[in-house]
Amino acid sequence: MQILDGKIASASIKESLKKQVEEIKSNGKRAPHLAAILVGSNGASETYVASKVKNCKEIEFESTLVRFDDSIEEETLLQQIEELNNNDNIDGILVQLPLPKHIDEQKVIEAVNPSKDVDGFHPVSAGKLVQGLPTFIPATPFGIILMLEHFKIETKGKHAVVIGRSNIVGKPMSILLSSNTKFGNCTVTICHSQTKNLKEICLQADILVAALGRPTFVKADMVKEGAVVIDVGITRVEDATAKKGFRIKGDVDFDEVAPKTSAITPVPGGVGLMTIAGLLKNTLQAYLSRELSIMNRELPVNK
Ligand code: NAP
Repeated sequence: MQILDGKIASASIKESLKKQVEEIKSNGKRAPHLAAILVGSNGASETYVASKVKNCKEIEFESTLVRFDDSIEEETLLQQIEELNNNDNIDGILVQLPLPKHIDEQKVIEAVNPSKDVDGFHPVSAGKLVQGLPTFIPATPFGIILMLEHFKIETKGKHAVVIGRSNIVGKPMSILLSSNTKFGNCTVTICHSQTKNLKEICLQADILVAALGRPTFVKADMVKEGAVVIDVGITRVEDATAKKGFRIKGDVDFDEVAPKTSAITPVPGGVGLMTIAGLLKNTLQAYLSRELSIMNRELPVNK
């Protein structure tokens, strides 16, 4: 059984991104710049955003963190996004979800200019993904594909089962795995809370992606011998013996499932780290496209 170690895979991606940034800077250009917006003080969101900012620093990206408290009005948030949309020095914008209840999340997602939508949540990005057009792929499914690529996991012709159909993980994951690409070409079954015979379906999976947000839900009797198991779940589970009072748990019962698999991602240290790698890759992509379009804008028009 192979551990699909997110630390190893993400370090290799970050190293290659860092080299590209160094080259960009050595040509006298500015570095890629990610802007993150954090509303409120949700512990998990704080941790995710801090980690994204720290990772930007590590690979010499610029980053800007814009913070608002919970009581912010929707209009103020939308105005801030518009400012970032119009700022030529910002390449990527991410708004950390979830947002407070009084803010319409969909409106916020749609306010981000699709050319800066490095989270890949805008309907334009999602539509392009469905049609197989180049776009920003939501960071978590993108990170999973990057992980499959790093560990050279064969996907062609395999039966992949994805548990979860959210717009940010399950749905795009099912599209990527079924698309006609090197780490796609699976036959995909997508499951959700209304799926009957979930266990029987999971038992057919050569590749099982668990993204349902129910800690240790996937047990050994749901997994086929030799399957590849990707655990997306991140849930804080109270534990008085832990320093912080909680432990991070995945959706897979790692201890009992791992021995049955041919490869499995750990939690923490698996998909979470790859999500950041996906986000950073999207940001570089956004930067390169913007630089190109700015260059074209500045070229004299041939009349
Ligand atoms: P979500 O929006 O809550 O979606 C959960 C999905 O799971 C829904 O489609 C739901 O079905 C389905 N589901 C829930 N209970 C189920 C059950 N008993 N059987 C079958 N399906 C069930 O969650 P999400 O945003 O996709 O996130 C899923 C998990 O991944 C969470 O733990 C989250 O924290 C984690 N996550 C991790 C990363 C990372 O970087 N590692 C990134 C994003 C999310 P219905 O549609 O029928 O409700």
